[in-house]
Amino acid sequence: MWPYYPELIGKPVPRYTSYPTAAEFGSVDSYFHEAGFDSLSPNAPISLYVHIPFCEKICWYCGCNTGAANRAHRLTSYLDALHAEIETAVDRLGKQHSVTQIAFGGGSPNALDPIDFVRLLDHLLIAFTAFDARLSIELDPRSMCDGWEALIGRAGITHASLGVQTFDPDLQARIGRVQPVESIKQAVAHLRRAGIQSLNFDLMYGLPGQSCDALVSSIEQTITLSPDRIALFGYAHLPNVIKRQCQIDDSDMPDGATRFEMAAIGFERLTGAGYVPIGFDHFARPGDSLAQACESGQMRRNFQGFTDDPCETLIGLGASAISNFPDRIVQNAKNSGQYRIMASAGMLSGERGVLRTAEDNARGRVIESLLCGGQANLSEIDVPTAMVTRLEQLSKLGLIELGASDIAIASEGLPYSRAIAALFDGYRASSEERFSSAV
Ligand code: SF4
Repeated sequence: MWPYYPELIGKPVPRYTSYPTAAEFGSVDSYFHEAGFDSLSPNAPISLYVHIPFCEKICWYCGCNTGAANRAHRLTSYLDALHAEIETAVDRLGKQHSVTQIAFGGGSPNALDPIDFVRLLDHLLIAFTAFDARLSIELDPRSMCDGWEALIGRAGITHASLGVQTFDPDLQARIGRVQPVESIKQAVAHLRRAGIQSLNFDLMYGLPGQSCDALVSSIEQTITLSPDRIALFGYAHLPNVIKRQCQIDDSDMPDGATRFEMAAIGFERLTGAGYVPIGFDHFARPGDSLAQACESGQMRRNFQGFTDDPCETLIGLGASAISNFPDRIVQNAKNSGQYRIMASAGMLSGERGVLRTAEDNARGRVIESLLCGGQANLSEIDVPTAMVTRLEQLSKLGLIELGASDIAIASEGLPYSRAIAALFDGYRASSEERFSSAV
């Protein structure tokens, strides 16, 4: 279905959840972080992201900033710091900013005791005056309990994402995430009963020992459970960067051609089942708000991936959380001990970040537009002769359509979207090992 060009697909490229990407972040301090808050226009709407860096069980493939939720005092002191950071943020922002969305991610927010989560949510809703905000949460099906089902229904959480990855028990054992199919079915039933309107499954292909048939089987089981959205990620095996992945036996990894075939099979099966393709690796039911945002050209890309949240400003709360301010990006201290010390002392903990230039903004719009809508206007950026030559080559291959000042990704070019977007990244030169391959 898709033409295979290994030299294009094998090149490591960022996922572009921001531009500039995290690879361009440098050291910053609290003053830089404070200036980000001060750059907001009065009354500008904001969204919040709250990072909970704990999980009941740590999966071997996981690249998230998370740790085991097995020491009560660590959770308590982290939550104390988070409550303090909420107060610090509200002191700087005031209460005049309406909050469009609060997203809880991690880690696994449901590693927390439901009572602690309710206290946190209450504090956010009251401190920010966020009673109309849409609430979303990432959940580990292995940690769902009756208390969480009751909480989700009563708290008014409407969007949830479940880490599924694969239904195959052998593959689950190979990646250190064992979760019987019954526990996933139960979690889905809990969430639907609790009133979740939009349920996402994260699935993975390219796992060690995974065959195309095993992928198809997981996709078929997924379709049976009828999530509203599906994110189908290619597993990025980077044990030099993500130490946990050293536990994974990588002697049986699918090669590049097989990964490409898996991405194509996933696309065919999911679109064949009525899902709308979203960006380069997501799928949604036509009635889902993400599919509608994609259809109307309103979809955006932020640190959580594709989103229908139109808000330009995202305030990240918690260790390693990233804020997107009008003129800069700031990441909180990654080390949760460091984060706790700073946040508890009433300080903003930003330690990495970047100031966006006008050129960054223009290039960022091109990259986001290509990844979200498959097309972009190039009139705001410099397109040197070498890039024109490269684009013409891609056009001859049938991967893009090139206009006088615009570009559109052809249907054959969809799996190459990230590689095509990367052509407009002014920073990409070295250190390619830090990124994953485009498929
Ligand atoms: S449950 Fe999710 S966040 Fe936690 S270790 Fe597994 S993949 Fe990572």
